[in-house]
Amino acid sequence: MIDDTRTLSKGLAYTLAALSMFFAIGEFILLTLSNERPPHYNEFATYFIYLSGLLVVPVLMVLGARMSKFKLLAILWFHLFMSTLLLWFSEIVSPFTPTWSLLILFASIYYGWKGFIASSVNLIINTGIYIVLFPESLVPEAPIYIGIAIMINVITILNAYLFFRIIKNGKDKNVELWISRAAEKQRANQLSAVLNSIHDPVLTIDSDGMIVSQNAASQSFFETNESYVGRRVDAFVSLYSKDGGQILLSEYADNITNTLIRDDVVYGQGDERLYISLQVSRIERAVGEKSGGIVVVLHDITKQRTLDSEKDAFISVTSHELRTPITAIESGIGNIKLLRSQGVADERLDKFVDDTSKQVTSLSQIVKDISIVSRVEQGVDEGVEEVDLRHLLQELHDKYADQAKQKSLSFTMQIQDNPPAFISSRLYLSAVIENIVKNAIEYTKVGSVTVKASIENGHLLCSVSDTGIGISESDQDKIFEKFYRSEDYRARDKSGTGLGLYIVKLLATKMNGTVRVDSHLNKGSTFYVSVPVTLVKEVPSEEADPASDQKDSLKP
Ligand code: ADP
Repeated sequence: MIDDTRTLSKGLAYTLAALSMFFAIGEFILLTLSNERPPHYNEFATYFIYLSGLLVVPVLMVLGARMSKFKLLAILWFHLFMSTLLLWFSEIVSPFTPTWSLLILFASIYYGWKGFIASSVNLIINTGIYIVLFPESLVPEAPIYIGIAIMINVITILNAYLFFRIIKNGKDKNVELWISRAAEKQRANQLSAVLNSIHDPVLTIDSDGMIVSQNAASQSFFETNESYVGRRVDAFVSLYSKDGGQILLSEYADNITNTLIRDDVVYGQGDERLYISLQVSRIERAVGEKSGGIVVVLHDITKQRTLDSEKDAFISVTSHELRTPITAIESGIGNIKLLRSQGVADERLDKFVDDTSKQVTSLSQIVKDISIVSRVEQGVDEGVEEVDLRHLLQELHDKYADQAKQKSLSFTMQIQDNPPAFISSRLYLSAVIENIVKNAIEYTKVGSVTVKASIENGHLLCSVSDTGIGISESDQDKIFEKFYRSEDYRARDKSGTGLGLYIVKLLATKMNGTVRVDSHLNKGSTFYVSVPVTLVKEVPSEEADPASDQKDSLKP
């Protein structure tokens, strides 16, 4: 195959450039030192040799080694240079003739068989021209001279042929090797790109339990920049089964026959532990290897597991919480029916109706909580509307006033005078404040529950203070978690799902707001909520400025 885009090999080109200069200088020295002239001396040919040998050939060779377009010209000119040399400065039977082998070789390296033939024919034509141009030099033994000349030509061509075969053979093998190495490298690159694009850690382990390769994800998984390659896998990868027994990957490396998948694997210990789906596959044994080793993929299923267990907890807690009011409602209705069948219509009947109605309210609250959580977690947006703060809190007060009164609690609202109307999610805001107020009344035996609210600097600030049982410091970190209920027996007394404050946090965060608590055991708690709102119309700052003592008390 001829590759015309290739440039001349530097080594070869510079050698030929040096050779042409050597011939030209040699010619010059011979002509200058001796008075004798070569047999067919020609002045024009002499200058051509000087010019070509010292300038044109070296320049063309240098250019040909850099730019492929000068390659052919360099080869042709070198042939012309040698032809001139052989024709005008030597005999038909000349020791220079075998030098032509180099030319044939040179042409065939770059132009294959075509170059070989062209250069060989050039040599033969050269000999023919010699015979035609200088027949007198063959006299008197022309047949002998011609015979020897032909022999030298044949030897020269054969020589070149031999060298050409040797080089071509070697080159073919090298090329094959080079191609197969390049293909292997390409495959290795592809494989490592695939492995590195996988988000799960992937390790290959040899039959002795040593790590042979690791992908990029494994470094972040094992939280290290170190390479594990060449080290014992069991020393790095601490995997445990559900019952706490250690899983040794090196044992799989030696005896696994098929792909194995285990979902009961734990990586690490304590709070940091991760649930893993472990996949181990056998690598086919290569020739001469005892075993091919294994590929290990560690897929982190902690989130899935947590979600699953959250779902289980959700179902178990909610079904338990639902069962209490439902049982009470069932028995309440049973009692009402019984009393009615007995014709009883006094206060006993009223009590059952009241109790049952309370249980229905509690049931409806639980269902409402669950529905809010599920809607918000699924990203359903409730939309925004114009909100009147006074109206919103008045509704809340009306709803819980009776409950507070029954417990003899003072339940007051301190709302900023003429609060500006604003745009926000009314449903979310009322759910946030209601859950906090409901808790405050629930967990306060004596004293008061006070709600303060104002709009300041584009934020709704609301605080709910009670004089109730308070929340221990350790609980304060956890009360906003899903389903969290304090272990405090006084809180355990009350029914609840542990979803109330989770909803508060969820909704406040959804509205880009914040919520925090300040509480002391047996003294009471204050919850602070701050939510950015959009005012319906900008109010001049004087008008918007409420009584300053109230404002300060609301700052979260
Ligand atoms: P629930 O009230 O349904 O148990 P919440 O998420 O509303 O769930 O509250 C979580 C826990 O926080 C409660 O179980 C209770 O122990 C504690 N808690 C919340 N509000 C108060 C409060 N005002 N005073 C004392 N403890 C509170």
